[in-house]
Amino acid sequence: MTTLLTPARDNFSRRLKDLRISVTDRCNFRCAYCMPREIFGASHQFLDRKALLTFEEIARVSSLFIQCGVEKIRLTGGEPLLRRDIHVLVEMLAKLKGIKDLTLTTNGSVLTPERARLLKHAGLHRITVSLDALDDPTFKAMNDVGFPVARVLDAIENAAAAKLTPVKVNVVIKRGVNEHAVLPMARHFKGTGHIVRFIEYMDVGNTNGWRLDDVVSAAEIMRLINAELPIEPASANYKGEVAKRWRYRDGSGEIGIISSVTQPFCANCTRARLSAKGQLYTCLFAAVSHDLRRLLRSEASDEYILGTLQSVWNRRDDRYSEVRTSRTVNLPKVEMSYIGG
Ligand code: SAM
Ligand code: SF4
Ligand code: SF4
Repeated sequence: MTTLLTPARDNFSRRLKDLRISVTDRCNFRCAYCMPREIFGASHQFLDRKALLTFEEIARVSSLFIQCGVEKIRLTGGEPLLRRDIHVLVEMLAKLKGIKDLTLTTNGSVLTPERARLLKHAGLHRITVSLDALDDPTFKAMNDVGFPVARVLDAIENAAAAKLTPVKVNVVIKRGVNEHAVLPMARHFKGTGHIVRFIEYMDVGNTNGWRLDDVVSAAEIMRLINAELPIEPASANYKGEVAKRWRYRDGSGEIGIISSVTQPFCANCTRARLSAKGQLYTCLFAAVSHDLRRLLRSEASDEYILGTLQSVWNRRDDRYSEVRTSRTVNLPKVEMSYIGG
């Protein structure tokens, strides 16, 4: 049963509305900005299967999060489609009362037409596919496993054919690596109904060697696009929307730009993150977490876990992107593949 308690509010009065669940720390890509090969190489110890939350544990804790106010759930990773039978989890989550948006972010590598249909049938609402360039040399170098562009484009079409729409396409822009991809990506998807979201390269974790100089700012991305394909600001779909929306002046669709570094949006951040092994993080850049797996595997009642979720959220005062300095960049932080984007 899902009855909504008083929605949880944190120290800055921000509600808890979104939950991002990492279902695996594994990935078949080695994007340098996320899982650099030097760190995530052959000898890297990924989590043991038994360490991962089971589907039943994820569904139980999700229903408790919903009682605290969560309306949107995103499945992510690592690569979420590498988790076997993920559609079974989707089916369990889709049945929870109170879910308004159930989505998944994937690199698209194993999103076949059948898989897309299975996910839709299970109750997934939408999908986001990541793709960092349209030319093979750049994209293959960025995923660092030689994965071709064409297969990700196929995945995007498979998602659209299964009506997991609108399909969003995430592009992380890193200076000197793929800023030349901004315009080709915009041109390619303009008028298709798919929404490209350009993301500023972030200092998540401690392994990607992030430098401020590598960030191509949202303003620069906007100017690059606007010079050839005129755009104008569009109003947010809801308070706290991560991407700033821009629409093409000729009416042929929209793009999003996520400016986490140059124009932080912590003031409206309503997101909690659950790691693959069941730790609750209240910020993408957090170092400390709360171990929910221990509670889920103990005799703890739903009421007790609910109380824990409420009190963790009530104590929250995260606003990392607003206080980012050259010093904070080197503080210990969780890696993105554990908690998802
Ligand atoms: N493997 C899936 C994928 O790539 O879509 C899901 C997990 S991935 C961590 C989620 C999103 O985070 C992707 O769109 C990815 O591009 C983005 N991401 C990863 N590292 C990032 C970074 N350092 N800065 C900005 N975005 C990043
Ligand atoms: Fe894998 Fe996604 Fe991270 Fe790339 S961004 S390494 S695809 S988890
Ligand atoms: Fe939210 Fe933390 Fe990102 Fe700020 S830095 S928007 S608090 S996840």
